[in-house]
Amino acid sequence: MSTSPQVITPPQQLQQFCLDQKHRGQKIGVVPTMGALHAGHLSLVDRMRSECDLCVVTIFVNPTQFGPGEDFDKYPRTLEQDLDQLTSHHVDLVFAPETGTMFPADATTQVQPPRVAETLEGPLRPGHFQGVATVVLKLLNLTLADVAIFGQKDFQQLAVLKQMANDLNVATRILSAPIVRESDGLAMSSRNRYLDAEERQRALALSRSLFQVRQQFDEGQRDARDLAAELMQGLIDGGVDSADYAVIADAITLESLETVDRPAVALVAAHVGQTRLIDNLLLTP
Ligand code: AMP
Repeated sequence: MSTSPQVITPPQQLQQFCLDQKHRGQKIGVVPTMGALHAGHLSLVDRMRSECDLCVVTIFVNPTQFGPGEDFDKYPRTLEQDLDQLTSHHVDLVFAPETGTMFPADATTQVQPPRVAETLEGPLRPGHFQGVATVVLKLLNLTLADVAIFGQKDFQQLAVLKQMANDLNVATRILSAPIVRESDGLAMSSRNRYLDAEERQRALALSRSLFQVRQQFDEGQRDARDLAAELMQGLIDGGVDSADYAVIADAITLESLETVDRPAVALVAAHVGQTRLIDNLLLTP
């Protein structure tokens, strides 16, 4: 029988606990999440367990990374089910703080995110990456983590956090893990539960168009503008309500490419009904 993870709510208590563990020589790993866990999150947990002695999962719907009019209020909060899932994945500790203790009114310091935050999601979600970078740095400081892991599902977020860690000499090693998909290709996301059956079908436009473009890439197409045009057409033909972007970008800087002559990534963001979805696929020869 697995035991359920210990749950800590006050940030100072988490830091003291992790400090004690560290003094005992334990290697600490952290998996930051906003909860409403699915197999994508659990793949991060499984990977992390082989990297550390103490695996901490954080569950915090971070208000500072949501813009006005975004889904902060309706974001799914399913702590009991999340804890059940983490029990069977042998997680030691869950940190589930109250918003006010993470962001007291007098805490006004923010991380200025790196340049890679200025493209794609950056202009569409002002303040988003500042909110992400700030909360992640706080979580790394609270857990004193040796290792942290993030999914490639949020490809730009991963690039932002790697650069932040590098620029600010963060001692935590940043790992990444591949996107976990449903059997029909849809990238798993906590937001998929907003989709009704008809929208769920149309949401497949994202992964389908990405896989079509990768097939063209595998067949030798290297003109990134043609590939991007195909990607956008695939979204529209697949029935999304609107597309925010469909680009072929340098996999490190996320700058748009004209020719795929280096490691690249195809990235899409689109709206289906009231739901905004993102997805991506690496283009590597
Ligand atoms: P979130 O709870 O959406 O903030 O995600 C927490 C972490 O899980 C982030 O590092 C995400 O990139 C990662 N993640 C979310 N969905 C997936 C997925 N389908 N496959 C792999 N990782 C994921």
